[in-house]
Amino acid sequence: MKDDASGKDGRRPLTQLAQAGRKPEWTGMPGQPGAIVSPPVWRASTILYDDVAHLRKAAGSSTHERLFYGRKGTPTAWSLADALTEMEPGAAGTMLYPSGVAAIACALMAVLKPGDRLLMVDSAYDPTRAFCTQLLDNYGIETIYYDPASISLDAHLAGGPIRALFLESPGSLTFEVQDVPALTAWAKANGVVTLIDNTWATPLYFPALAHGVDISILACTKYIVGHSDVMMGSVTATADWFGPIRQTAYLFGQMVSPDDAWLASRGLRTLGIRLRQHQDSAIAIARWLNDQPEVARVLHPALPDCPGHAMWQRDFSGSTGLFSFILDGGDEAARAAMIDGLAHFGIGYSWGGFESLALPVDPARYRSATQWQAAGPAIRLHIGLEDPADLIADLAAGLARFRAVRDGREADPGGPAG
Ligand SMILES: *Cc1c(COP(=O)(O)O)cnc(C)c1O
Repeated sequence: MKDDASGKDGRRPLTQLAQAGRKPEWTGMPGQPGAIVSPPVWRASTILYDDVAHLRKAAGSSTHERLFYGRKGTPTAWSLADALTEMEPGAAGTMLYPSGVAAIACALMAVLKPGDRLLMVDSAYDPTRAFCTQLLDNYGIETIYYDPASISLDAHLAGGPIRALFLESPGSLTFEVQDVPALTAWAKANGVVTLIDNTWATPLYFPALAHGVDISILACTKYIVGHSDVMMGSVTATADWFGPIRQTAYLFGQMVSPDDAWLASRGLRTLGIRLRQHQDSAIAIARWLNDQPEVARVLHPALPDCPGHAMWQRDFSGSTGLFSFILDGGDEAARAAMIDGLAHFGIGYSWGGFESLALPVDPARYRSATQWQAAGPAIRLHIGLEDPADLIADLAAGLARFRAVRDGREADPGGPAG
């Protein structure tokens, strides 16, 4: 894995996480000594002006990071946006959205117009695919799905110019790592703008713009917030793209509540230590699963047999808590027997909080350019901050339940092992 490069002013990412977004004007009062550590919650819709001249001046100048009207935000949201920009070397700015999906939708709307063609990775998050097929289609924008293993996309130029290339690495559910430097080099050579869904790694483990990407998208709902209690998305862009990204967000009236921004900022401060623990526990559990006879395959970029492992090693400075594994044989009922009895894993969508989750996943439903074939049903795990030994004991008992149903016997009585 790569070493953490030192960032802005020579400060490293963990130092930036502690310091970013705490401008004096957001933490202190004019003419008074002293400053609050964290920018507080500034709630606002109306902003009042001294007179008509000031009102007109505010309307005529840039409203970025200036009090104007609640929809353009207050220092609480600006602080979070600034911190996310600082975490992404090469970024000019960040806009915030009420969900990750809103961020993806607005970023795509900022770069595409009728008649354009979009290259979308086949392992993309399913709602991203839904946005393309159910909305972009109606606007005369064609989506072409490509294999995440591609390193050149020349074949797709035959049908006409490509406007945008969308990446997600590792891919949702199946965790294929893409060759981002090769793909962004191809895009630059062909005048194609690149966007990435960087939710899994976050800029801490994969600074996307530094790898040649133009626009980096996060579902902050996951690791930035980190506590499963806020929905939010962000788009961070280079100087060339931040203008259109910001203007499109304004036109769609996108904003986040100051309370949510404050919670996300609180989450961001501990991103470094949380991710390190998610990483260590997830790798330990992935390796353990890899040795179990009921498991056909583990899909985790840090394991050597995961597709794209070498690229993960080359480009990323860490791995996080989300991965999948494939059961050896068995059907829907055998998979459910494993998941339903888990004591320490919740059953639910989303991930990135402090708690562990288990989810049945069926990648074949969300593929069109590639074929998904596996030895059995798949389960996606999010490894939370619990003691990994408890999680392993829980999974061991789950695999015994799975085996009993698969092999047509009753599970051994006695509940979870260990
Ligand atoms: C959850 C998720 C999203 C969407 O985020 P929401 O805040 O739930 O809308 C986007 N991309 C990936 C990879 C995700 O896991």
